[in-house]
Amino acid sequence: MTTPQAPSGQELAELRQRYRQERERRVRPDGARQYRVADAGFGYWAADPYAGEVPAREPLRDTVDVAVVGGGFGGILAGARLRQRGVERVRIVEKGGDFGGTWYWNRYPGVHCDVESHVYLPMLDETGYVPEWKYAPGEEIRRHAVRIAERFDLYPDALFSTTVTSLTWDESAEVWIVATDRGDEFRATYVVTATGTLSEPKLPGIPGIEDFEGHTFHTSRWDYAYTGGGPDGGLTGLAGKRVGVVGTGATGVQVVPMLAEDAGHVYVFQRTPSTVDVRANRRTGAEEVGAGRDGWARERRENFLRVVSGEPAEQDLVADAWTESAGLLEKLLPSFRRDGDRAAFEAAYEAADAAKMNALRTRVERAVTDPEVAEKLKPWYRYACKRPTFSDLYYPAFNRDNVTLVDTADTHGLERVTRDGVVVGGTAYALDCLIFATGFSVGVSGVVSGRLPVHGRGGVQLLHAWAERGPRTLHGFTSHGFPNLIQLGSLQNAASVNFTHVLDEQAVHAAALVAAAEAAGA
Ligand code: NAP
Repeated sequence: MTTPQAPSGQELAELRQRYRQERERRVRPDGARQYRVADAGFGYWAADPYAGEVPAREPLRDTVDVAVVGGGFGGILAGARLRQRGVERVRIVEKGGDFGGTWYWNRYPGVHCDVESHVYLPMLDETGYVPEWKYAPGEEIRRHAVRIAERFDLYPDALFSTTVTSLTWDESAEVWIVATDRGDEFRATYVVTATGTLSEPKLPGIPGIEDFEGHTFHTSRWDYAYTGGGPDGGLTGLAGKRVGVVGTGATGVQVVPMLAEDAGHVYVFQRTPSTVDVRANRRTGAEEVGAGRDGWARERRENFLRVVSGEPAEQDLVADAWTESAGLLEKLLPSFRRDGDRAAFEAAYEAADAAKMNALRTRVERAVTDPEVAEKLKPWYRYACKRPTFSDLYYPAFNRDNVTLVDTADTHGLERVTRDGVVVGGTAYALDCLIFATGFSVGVSGVVSGRLPVHGRGGVQLLHAWAERGPRTLHGFTSHGFPNLIQLGSLQNAASVNFTHVLDEQAVHAAALVAAAEAAGA
């Protein structure tokens, strides 16, 4: 790890103290209980604004080879890899009106992926597609999901606007019975779950949130009928309107500059500032990324993984702020290469972290003209305490007259929502529109949340089987007593900042398991 301009011992001690103080300003005793999820008597927040009218259909009672729960990249890749293994009846069941998962739901203005498109978009080698930009807009990624689904013929058997409500192993017939909210009860020899880790939108449990009489929505359910425009901007419906945005994570950072272009006035309600590193998005030619050569995308993806995981790599092909901060991603990707002097490692790590965070704080000072505003935008924690974000548009937005930053750290977030707006620190902000960029329940989707009950051998429920000693899986994929059930995702499985890479490796493995079981007649 490099240690540019390592801070002195005195500076490090001061930083430690400052980080502790800033943490105490924000931490809440209610922890994750401070949030509400959309299905707790609050369902309208989660309604699908993109599906249009959902056509009625007869419930299904047939049998397929593999049922895949979830039509995001995990499910699509499972389908594609199963097809490559010659599996015929693959039925993907998806809550949304089409394939795409995260990229189906998140269509907010400014939506982009912050991992380089050439490593993030899966199956580029197989589809021949070459992204145009270093960081792809969401719509391009969504279309790529559709491209893979079309290429591997996943549409004919797919069920959209359908939620799987239970999975039950029928011991006599040795099949899974898949029940859905559309009355289906079909059978599947295998089930692959790919329900995502960040798919349940959450809202702050702020008093009065239901009383607001203006317009309101979550960023993952963007209401273009109200705002006008599209993901590229042109939000003409917001002209002259007072718009509040709650949340300054990766979504807030992308949305705020777009709102600032068109809204009458934007109030950004911040609790914890993100780190906002250099974006430097640009068009990339096919030649630059070596597209066309056999296996070019795989090579690039694996190179990115090696670099961000601190593995030896001859060159850094992606060369961006992720790879530049590689040595500081220990919290996300522990390398376990800590043999040797542990104390020396920790000291070098802390110094490198402080140098990086100082550079990010200097970036705020340089970009934001009002020193008071700049001070509030500075992040005071160690790198990757909050998921790093990247933008060259976010800080300049605060130099505009129509953007106001409202710091809510001392009140632990918004205090109250009223009929007309919100209250912070006793000050009322009147709003026409209140947008929640407040993220998603973390890691609790589907199986692990209990919202998708799974009954295995002897009718045992998966969460009950895990209740005493925690989740027990073989490498995250399979669990004893739950035959032919393969789970994709991050539970006891591999991690990377490039999540589609993880999902694709898992999909290849899932397809290999099914193929091996079939070949053995198991
Ligand atoms: P998020 O990271 O969970 O951020 C939620 C934001 O809402 C935080 O700033 C949080 O503040 C704030 N908040 C929550 N309750 C609040 C309250 N009561 N008052 C004031 N503020 C409140 O959500 P996100 O930005 O939608 O991101 C979700 C996930 O998607 C993340 O993993 C993110 O990295 C990922 N993402 C990725 C990309 C990409 O380009 N790859 C783009 C967008 C999102 P605190 O920090 O203080 O809790």
